[in-house]
Amino acid sequence: MARIEIKGLTKRYTDGFEALHHTDLSIEQGEFIVIVGPSGCGKSTLLRLIAGLEEPSAGTIAINGRDITHLPPAERGVAMVFQSYALYPHLTVAENIAFPLKVARRPKAEIAERVAKVAASLELEELLDRRPRALSGGQRQRVSIGRAIVRQPDVLLLDEPLSNLDSELRVRMRHEFARLHQQLGRTMVYVTHDQLEAMTLANRIVVMANGRVEQVGAPLDLYAHP
Ligand code: ADP
Ligand code: ADP
Repeated sequence: MARIEIKGLTKRYTDGFEALHHTDLSIEQGEFIVIVGPSGCGKSTLLRLIAGLEEPSAGTIAINGRDITHLPPAERGVAMVFQSYALYPHLTVAENIAFPLKVARRPKAEIAERVAKVAASLELEELLDRRPRALSGGQRQRVSIGRAIVRQPDVLLLDEPLSNLDSELRVRMRHEFARLHQQLGRTMVYVTHDQLEAMTLANRIVVMANGRVEQVGAPLDLYAHP
């Protein structure tokens, strides 16, 4: 759980293009925030800045009152789920999920226990010895979620996590994200193009355009009275 406080956040890429202009955003503890907006408006840039995968050109990010703007990704209490899953192909499901704990040099017993818990909550118990190429798209996505939550991050960032799945699976996974949010009680920041996902998952929706936050509101406020 975490409160996220973003102030004056700006990102100019090395080619000089400014993808995010002076953005302010406050996210409450445990909130499910969905970020929508046209392709290229800066959604991924904002997530990558929160995750620490990019350095901001200006501005600050604080989580629970702690300034994390310049901390390395692993020290932020934040984890990210990517559209492309980004699983390690040569590692099994269990090894993929365990990876962040191995990097953090957690004891073997703790790793085994955490992996078992995560696998149970995502219904991956039967698949732990498989490699990613032997999984369906939905199963791969579940593994990438497992790898993200295994360190019990305060904040879970999801960048179009369902966009590579067929429509039936998207519906199922949408329900799963709602369940996961309830179960974990974590702060979620979720990027999508899908209005239905935004409507059903969000406590609040952030509408971005051209590197700016244009509107923030509850789903019904934004979509019922456009
Ligand atoms: P990424 O996060 O990988 O940069 P993009 O934002 O480039 O993803 O968009 C992914 C796909 O969604 C692209 O094929 C793009 O054409 C399409 N897309 C982008 N914006 C919209 C939109 N507002 N409505 C529908 N499809 C969109
Ligand atoms: P979205 O996720 O909303 O599709 P992005 O945050 O991916 O948007 O990109 C925002 C803008 O920044 C786009 O115009 C994109 O082309 C540009 N951009 C993204 N990454 C880079 C980069 N590494 N270098 C230069 N421009 C980039």
